[in-house]
Amino acid sequence: MRDVDPRRRVPRTDALLADPALAAAAGTLGRDRVKAAIVRAQRRARAGELTPEQVRDAALADLPAPTPRAVLNATGVVLHTNLGRAPLAAAAVDALVAAAGHTDVELDLRTGRRARRGRDALDALAAAVPDAPAVHVVNNGAAALVLAATALAADREIVVSRGELVEIGDGFRLPDLLESTGARLREVGTTNRTALADYAAAVGPRTGFVLKVHPSNFRVTGFTSTVPVADLATLGVPVVADIGSGLLAPDPLLPDEPDAATTLRAGAHLVTASGDKLLGGPQAGLLLGAADLVERLRRHPLARALRVDKLTLAALAATLHASTTPTREALHADPGALRARTERLRDRLGEDGCKAEVVPSAAVVGGGGAPGVELDSWALSLPERYAEPLRTGAPPILGRVLHGRLLLDLRCVPADADPDVRAAILRAGA
Ligand SMILES: *Cc1c(COP(=O)(O)O)cnc(C)c1O
Repeated sequence: MRDVDPRRRVPRTDALLADPALAAAAGTLGRDRVKAAIVRAQRRARAGELTPEQVRDAALADLPAPTPRAVLNATGVVLHTNLGRAPLAAAAVDALVAAAGHTDVELDLRTGRRARRGRDALDALAAAVPDAPAVHVVNNGAAALVLAATALAADREIVVSRGELVEIGDGFRLPDLLESTGARLREVGTTNRTALADYAAAVGPRTGFVLKVHPSNFRVTGFTSTVPVADLATLGVPVVADIGSGLLAPDPLLPDEPDAATTLRAGAHLVTASGDKLLGGPQAGLLLGAADLVERLRRHPLARALRVDKLTLAALAATLHASTTPTREALHADPGALRARTERLRDRLGEDGCKAEVVPSAAVVGGGGAPGVELDSWALSLPERYAEPLRTGAPPILGRVLHGRLLLDLRCVPADADPDVRAAILRAGA
């Protein structure tokens, strides 16, 4: 029998759309985008660029990559804002998936009546910080500050040190954020030194609150002085402390990082923090403090606009109930164990003819906290040309380029991903 023209054997669109992998992609990317990739692959087959058998794989390869997508963080930066800060604990991921459908987020199933929204997350937060008489959760740390400024200081003054007017990233500046609420900033002191007397001279009938901001992404050293919360608490006006990182209790590894419990015990009336920094949870803004202040925030109309989603509440509750988080594990990883793990990876790569070195590395906490703190670590060192294929591969692997070398620090890479890292390096070097 005469062979049929290959161009006429190009698989039909409906047959390709029924293919399990392409059907799954249509479910997540949308049928139109998958169909467009199929049509492009069919056209290439008709032009003789592909065999009919290659059409399916070509269509799959041509699908747009969804974003955000999972990446492996081998930068050695534990809380990398560009990489989505804290990865969630497995229990938080499960909770998030379970909450994706209909949930009892605002219903008490025993009574069948309406219940306090997100009560499990709020109760867990209150239990984790017994020093906090009341708690509330909003969308992120910035939202927590905006809500506090709006509810407690709109048309009034926020007294703040000139040394604490920080830019939090991507061009967003705390002073602008606070002034956008209608509050006026009353700056006191200087960049490097502020005294209690500076605050005392500025506090008066127009004061909404005194704000203490933790410089979470920079350090001023040398001739400096700042006023501790305990002293600010003697001024007779509310003290709001933005601790940034979300540590609920002290961490001996990060002695200079403020935590919610200690800050409240020192006399702060309200503490604001992020959920996705050192706490290791989902993006959220935590508010902990005096019952009357928290109630004013909770009842303010703006609170409704900053309300967190059920997914956030589910992930936050699970994070607070979990015994540890990937962020905590990465921070506290033992350098000796990291070295042994990196050497194993180097040895396995060597067996496949890929030459890599193991070098000392300094990991950092990242924009989420503890500026200047370096964590002893180890990295796999490869030629710089590996950086791009690893970054654009599947899974994408992000390292750090230094002096012509690509450094891969495994501190923030889940240990069960090591075979994926090895395979990706071999592909990148091929
Ligand atoms: C990170 C940070 C913020 C902003 O918090 P987001 O959760 O990113 O909105 C505000 N203040 C300080 C001190 C911070 O470290």
